[in-house]
Amino acid sequence: MSTAEVKLSKLEHLKEGSHQLRGTIPEELLNDKPEFSGDAGQLLKHHGSYMQDDRDVRKEKNEDGTKKGKAYSCMVRTRIPGGRVTAEQFLAELDLCDKLGNGSVRITTRQGFQLHGVLKSNLRETIRAINDSMLTTFAACGDVNRNVMCCPAPYKNNPVHDEMQALSQELADHFKPKTTGYFDIWLSDEDGEKTNVADFNPVEEPIYGERYLPRKFKMAIAEPSDNCIDVYTQDLGLLAVVEDGKITGYNLLVGGGMGTTPSAAKTYPRIADKLTFVTPDQVIAVAEAIVKVQRDHGNREDRKIARLKYLIESWGLPKFKQKVEEYFGQALPEPHATDVTGVEDHIGWYEQGDGKLFLGINIESGRIKDDGDLRIKLGLRAILSKFGMETRLTALQSVILCDIDPADKEQINGLLAEHGIKNADELSLARRYAVACPAFPTCGLSITESERILPDVIDQLDVEMAKHGLASQKIAVHITGCPNGCGRPYTPDIGLVGKAVGKYTLFLGGNPEGTRLCFIYKDMVPLDEIVPTVSPLLGVYKSERNDGESFGDYCARIGKEGLEAKIA
Ligand code: SF4
Repeated sequence: MSTAEVKLSKLEHLKEGSHQLRGTIPEELLNDKPEFSGDAGQLLKHHGSYMQDDRDVRKEKNEDGTKKGKAYSCMVRTRIPGGRVTAEQFLAELDLCDKLGNGSVRITTRQGFQLHGVLKSNLRETIRAINDSMLTTFAACGDVNRNVMCCPAPYKNNPVHDEMQALSQELADHFKPKTTGYFDIWLSDEDGEKTNVADFNPVEEPIYGERYLPRKFKMAIAEPSDNCIDVYTQDLGLLAVVEDGKITGYNLLVGGGMGTTPSAAKTYPRIADKLTFVTPDQVIAVAEAIVKVQRDHGNREDRKIARLKYLIESWGLPKFKQKVEEYFGQALPEPHATDVTGVEDHIGWYEQGDGKLFLGINIESGRIKDDGDLRIKLGLRAILSKFGMETRLTALQSVILCDIDPADKEQINGLLAEHGIKNADELSLARRYAVACPAFPTCGLSITESERILPDVIDQLDVEMAKHGLASQKIAVHITGCPNGCGRPYTPDIGLVGKAVGKYTLFLGGNPEGTRLCFIYKDMVPLDEIVPTVSPLLGVYKSERNDGESFGDYCARIGKEGLEAKIA
C-alpha cells in the first residue's frame, strides 16, 4: 500500500523524515539540556536507549518546599543474541554501571543488559564503551527486530543447542537495520559534522524500507523440552523439530505478544499460532517474508494495534499464510506435530557434555547489585575476573557461567557463599521461576511497583506453599507494573499486573511452559491481599489435583467460577 493510501500516525511521519533514524539526536547531544525532545526520544529507542526520570525524586521537595521535578536519565539496553556474553563483556558492563550508571546492571527478560541512570551528557561515552566491548545497543528497542532470544543452555553433547545459538546470531545479523546513523552518531561523530543532514546520503534498507516496521518485532528460538524463552509470546517463535538428536527444521509460530493498553479494549495479549514447518535452509527467507508482510500490511495509523498479532487477528491465519507464501515464493507445509513439552530455568550445577560444567545463578529480578550481605555484583566480578568463563543471560533474568573445570567447582561455590549468593537448592522454585519488570522508579509507564515488591511476594508465597505441602512444586509468578507486559505476565501460573496505585489484576491458569493464556481471576487486588487470595486456592489444588497437574493447569481446568465456588 502506498503512503498516499494510508493515514499514517505521527510516529510514522517522524521515522520517515528522520534521515534514517538520526532526527535531531546529533544536535541535541550537543546542547546542555538534561533531556531529549519528545521526537528525538522516540528515535533514540532505535539506538537502544529510553529517556526516563526517577519517579521517586518527582515526589521529593527542595528546602523551600517546591517540588524537585524530573531528574532525567537514560536507560541503555544492550542487544545480545542468545544472551551470549564473554567475561570481558560482562565485566565491562559492571564497570559502566559503576562509572556512568546507577551502580546496578539489570538482566532483561529478553536476555539483554540494561543500565539505568545514565545522564544524557554521558550517553555517548556509555554507548561507545559498550561497542568497545564488541556488544551493541543498536536495535535493542524501536520499530525493528529486537534482540533475538534463544535457549541459553550450553550443552555440548549434541549439535542442537549450538545450531540454535548460531541461528540466533544469523537472524540478528540479517535483520539488523542498515542505516549508518548509529555508527555516525555514537561512534564517530563528536562534533556533529557527519550527521549533518544537509549532506545526508541514505543507504538502502532492503527489509525495513523508509518507515521501518509499524511496531516492535520479537523473535525467539526454543527446543520442545525447554521453552525457557517463552516461544509462544513472540511475534515470530521458532520451535526446533529434533529427530535423532538433529534439528530437521523449525515450526514457525506467529502473532504472539503480551502488550495491552488499559484504556483500549481493542488491545489484548495473545499467544502465537502455528504457521508452518520450515527446513533450516529456509528459515531466514521465510522469516524475512513474515517481517515484510508485517512491514507492508501492519497498521501504521494506530500504534496500539500495530503489532503482528492484530494483523493476523484481522486477516485470519489462512490469509496471512497465503500472503507469506506469496512473499516467499512457494507454498508452505502444515506445522510439524512437535510442540512444547517442558521448561527449565538452568539454575544450579549441570554437566555440559564435554567434561566441563555449567552453573546457573539465580538473580532476583535480574538486578545485579550489592545490597547488604547479598553482594551479587562483587561476587560475579570476583568469579569472572578469576576464571574468565563465557556466560549466558537467561530469559528468567539470571546468568549461566559456562565451561567450568570440575576442579574449580568448590572454589566457585566458596566465592558464591562468601558473597551471600544462594545455590539452587537453597531457593524455592517459586523464587527461581519468578520474573518482574523494573516498573518504579525508572519506568515512566509504571502504575504500581513490580521489581521492588517481588521479594516480599515470593517470601509470602513460599510460606503458604510450605504450609500446603507444596514447597517443591514448580510455580511461575510474573509481575509487571502496568499492562504493557514486559515481564510476560499473561502466560505463567500466576500473573500480577499493576492496575491502580497499590492494586493488581490477578491472573491465573497459565503454566510455566508458557503455552496458554491466563484468565483474570480477580481485579484490583491490594498488594497485601494477593498471597492471602491465592493461598486457599493452593489448598484446594493440593487436595484435588490430578497426577502431575501443575497449579496453572488445575486453575485452567476448574475455571474462574469453579475456583470461586470451591473457596466460597
Ligand atoms: Fe514499565 Fe509496564 Fe514494561 Fe513494567 S510492564 S517495565 S511498568 S512498561
